[in-house]
Amino acid sequence: MNCAQCGKALTRDEEGLSRKLINRGTKVFYCLDCLAQMNRTDRETLLGMIERFRQAGCTLFL
Ligand SMILES: [Zn+2]
Repeated sequence: MNCAQCGKALTRDEEGLSRKLINRGTKVFYCLDCLAQMNRTDRETLLGMIERFRQAGCTLFL
């Protein structure tokens, strides 16, 4: 899977976060940089979100 905006190869975490931020059934995925830009935030905030989802046991981030 590659970022729909910049074409970068995505990690599993980036795919999971795309599902969280767009919707669970999304067919388009974005890398952290593009997600940060779209959500007017930064990579560190997004990484923190991934960490919280993982600790909450979210199956997208196992
Ligand atoms: Zn991207």
